[in-house]
Amino acid sequence: MSTLQNLEARDNAIVRRELAKACRALACAVWYRYGMQDSVTNHVSAVAKAKDGNGIVILIAPSGVMWQNVTEECFLELNKETGEVIGEGVVPMVPRRMQLAAHRRRPDVEAAFHAHPQYATALWKDFTLRCIHPTSMAIIDRVVYDRHYDEKKDYKVAFDQLLSQLGDTNNILMMENHGIITVADTVAKAFDYMYKVEMASKIQLTAISSGVELKDISLEKAEAYRSVVAVNFPNIAQEHLDEVEKILHSSSK
Ligand SMILES: [Zn+2]
Repeated sequence: MSTLQNLEARDNAIVRRELAKACRALACAVWYRYGMQDSVTNHVSAVAKAKDGNGIVILIAPSGVMWQNVTEECFLELNKETGEVIGEGVVPMVPRRMQLAAHRRRPDVEAAFHAHPQYATALWKDFTLRCIHPTSMAIIDRVVYDRHYDEKKDYKVAFDQLLSQLGDTNNILMMENHGIITVADTVAKAFDYMYKVEMASKIQLTAISSGVELKDISLEKAEAYRSVVAVNFPNIAQEHLDEVEKILHSSSK
């Protein structure tokens, strides 16, 4: 098990608001056209202080709900230790076990997202993200790969093995034949990683489809780029999420 420090959980209402924003933003079909949810089957979760102030819970979006329709009130709460639903509601076995495995393996993260976005899911054998563009430079040191989807048998063991591949520092798990998991110490960053891995995959697939030969950027250059971004855009993930929410809010009027 990980020796990482537990995240200091934020207030329940704050995490609910952020998680609802992230769901709607990932699903939004306005100007950005992210459209990352696959039917009603993908899942998001985030740790937060319990509403009654006693301990920590895991907020999880209920299944059967399109993310466009997610609200702060709709999240169910799981007991962080047992995985049992607190109060009313049902969370199917697969999303519950995958999200619990993510939070158990990475106690340092607030949020874990799982989706099947179009481009990042269009993975072929041994797909590897190339360092060819600012968006890929931003995440190239945070990505790991799972190439064993067809071998998984026992869900409980399989999800623990799956999430262990994130290690202690990575934020993006690209699953061959399946989809993406992102984890981060804020909901906004988990959302932004999901956006970036989808956009980087889209650029790479578009370039390959055009028949051009990809030209890789050095990892040293990528590291320097990330340093510049960190100085110039220190709150990029939160600003990104808040701006998409504004677009969604104005488009609904
Ligand atoms: Zn899935």
